[in-house]
This record gives sequence, structure tokens and C-alpha cells, in this order.
Amino acid sequence: MPPELFLSGLSPEELLDVLSPLPAFRANQIFKWISGGVSSFDDMTDLSLSLRRELSGRFGIYSSTVDGRFGDASDSGNAEKISLRLRDGAMVEAVLLSDGFSGRKTACLSTQAGCPAGCVFCKTGSLGFLRNLDSSEIVEQFFYLKAIAGGGIDNIVVMGMGEPLLNLGELRRALRVITHKKGLNFSKRRITVSTCGIAEGIRDLADKGPGVRLALSLCTAREDLRLRLMPLARQNPLPRLKDALSYHQKKNGQRITLEAVLLGNVNTTREDAAALVSFVRGLDAVVNLIPWNPVEGLSFEGKPLREPGEKEIKDFEKNLENGGVKFTRRRRKGGEVGGACGQLGSLGGGAKKEEFL
Ligand code: SAH
Ligand code: SF4
Repeated sequence: MPPELFLSGLSPEELLDVLSPLPAFRANQIFKWISGGVSSFDDMTDLSLSLRRELSGRFGIYSSTVDGRFGDASDSGNAEKISLRLRDGAMVEAVLLSDGFSGRKTACLSTQAGCPAGCVFCKTGSLGFLRNLDSSEIVEQFFYLKAIAGGGIDNIVVMGMGEPLLNLGELRRALRVITHKKGLNFSKRRITVSTCGIAEGIRDLADKGPGVRLALSLCTAREDLRLRLMPLARQNPLPRLKDALSYHQKKNGQRITLEAVLLGNVNTTREDAAALVSFVRGLDAVVNLIPWNPVEGLSFEGKPLREPGEKEIKDFEKNLENGGVKFTRRRRKGGEVGGACGQLGSLGGGAKKEEFL
């Protein structure tokens, strides 16, 4: 019978519980092995043979397998997308981004199979929602990408498939494993969680941690337009979101990123820029402009979505600059493998929930 319990997503404290009556030092040894990338009890050479055998009979370590790997290189860097097959057959994707200039490596992780938020410009959103990932399924993405990277990973961005703050419990558990002092000890300051704007989740994160960096996918600061582009905005109006961001910033002290995916002829007007300038006021924030990555078949109110033109972007940037807003423009990486922002979920090329299975 295949094991029902997998250890990759457990902290030393949880391991101690699960492995009872084994003593804490054993749980710590096992945690260290798993954090070091070991995926078989056979390789845990400081455990006796009989213990290794007993553990293999009772537990698994990884619950997922890598089903496919796709690479893409451009001037601005490389992207390697992997697709993971989960134990129930569901599929998710994770991406390793290597910056062509700095050489820094970033792991982009998913938290859900599909996404319930339904943002009109996003491939994942068009797939609908299948289910939340558990801690092991999130941690394993990191382990797989780390193995591909060969060396270390510099940053983690939780910007893959799904809305992280709608799966905060399991994301917390996963980050606890990745940041644990007894294991990888990955710095919380090098982790960014991106949300489409769940005010309650932002406050929860501020109150209970972990103290990671926060990015808000604003898209536009014009409430009426935002409601049409991002259906979840209805429960999370902009003033409430801004309050939650200020609250988070007060507690956490870190600069917030506001992501604005730029949709050609939709959210790049002077009014959009002015609304953004006023939203930023009072926050320590940097705006990250993300020219829309094409996803076939997506439209907005009957018109196909399109990439913004270079002049359109430049004009928008000028308006932000005049308003005194700090901004950066994201260089596209991973476009060829459907691994760029908002393109995840292209397995099989279609846009149906069934394709996760
Ligand atoms: N659900 C979270 C994290 C994943 S989406 C969130 O929405 O923040 C990560 C980022 O990709 C978001 O900022 C989103 O606005 C952006 N995005 C979605 N679809 C995109 C597309 N087709 N092109 C460019 N960016 C996109
Ligand atoms: Fe979900 Fe983020 Fe895509 Fe919106 S942009 S549908 S929240 S993954």
C-alpha cells in the first residue's frame, strides 16, 4: 500500500509528533536530511538499518513527482518551469528564474491547483479552482527547483498558481519548514508573498507572521475598473486594502510592492496613473509594472486582451514619475514556456479545470 503520510512538509515539531515514540534528536536528524534534499530513508545513513526499514514501511517523504520540465532562455535570464503531479493526479507548476544580469536565482511557488479569484487577465484564473495544496506539496516545489538550480536559491516568490492568502494555513506550515533554523534556515526577508488583495489575510499575516515581504496585485487603483477585472475585489474594496497594507507595514516595517499588470488600452490611462499615485500616498511602496504576458483566448468585456505598446508604457511611467511614485518594470522571463507571470496552467494548452487531472 502506498504511504498516506509524507514527511517533506513537516517541521521538526510536527515530525516529533508523527514519529512518536522516537526521541526529538531523531526527528531533528530526519528533518535535517529532508531539508538537505534527501528523498529516501535509505540515504539517512545515521539511522540504523532497521529504523530506516521501519520508517519506509510507514511513511513516504515526497508526495509529488516531477512530470515535465521546460526551459527557456532570453537576454534577461533563464526560466525553467516544472510541472508536478500530485498524489491525486492534480497538476501544478513551479518556476526557477535565473536573472541574466545578477545571476540571482528565484523560486516561484504555487499554493493552489487553479485559483478561485478569477482575474480576467490570468491564465490560472481562467482554469477555475481545484483545491488547496498542502504544506508538503508547496515545500516539494522548492526542493525540486533547488535541485535543478544546483546551488542555492536566493529568493522565493509565492507568485505561482493560486491565491496564497486563501491558503494561508498550509503556506505558513510550508514556510516554517523552509525557514526553520534546524534546516534550510532560509531568510524570511528573501521571501515575497503576492496576493490579489485579501484584506483579512494581510492583517492575519501582519499579526501572526511569518515576517515575509508583501506584494499586492493592484492592477489598477480605479475601483470601478478593478471590480470588473478582479472579481474578488468586491469583498476587498481599495480603502480596506490600503488600511490592511498600512497595518502590515507598521508591524513589519518593510517596503511593499504594488504589482500592476498593464493591459493594453485598458488600465494605462492618465486616470489610472493618477489613481495609482494617490493610492501609494502614505505607504512606503514601489510599483512593479508588468506588461501583460499574452494568454490566448482571454478577453475583457468582449474585446481580446492585448499587450500594451511601448509608447503606452512609457507614457504611463512618465505619469507615475510626475506623481513622485517609485516604480520598476518587470522584464519578461519564461514567456516561451508559459512560465511567465499569469501564464501558469498551460498544461495541455487548453483552459479547462479538467486539465489539472
Ligand atoms: N494570486 C497571487 C499570486 C499569483 S499571480 C496574485 O494575484 O498576486 C502573480 C502576478 O501575476 C500578479 O501580480 C498578477 O497580477 C500577475 N499576472 C496575472 N496574469 C498575468 C499576465 N497574463 N501577464 C502578466 N502578469 C500577470
Ligand atoms: Fe489567481 Fe493571482 Fe491569477 Fe488572480 S492573478 S486569478 S489571484 S493567480
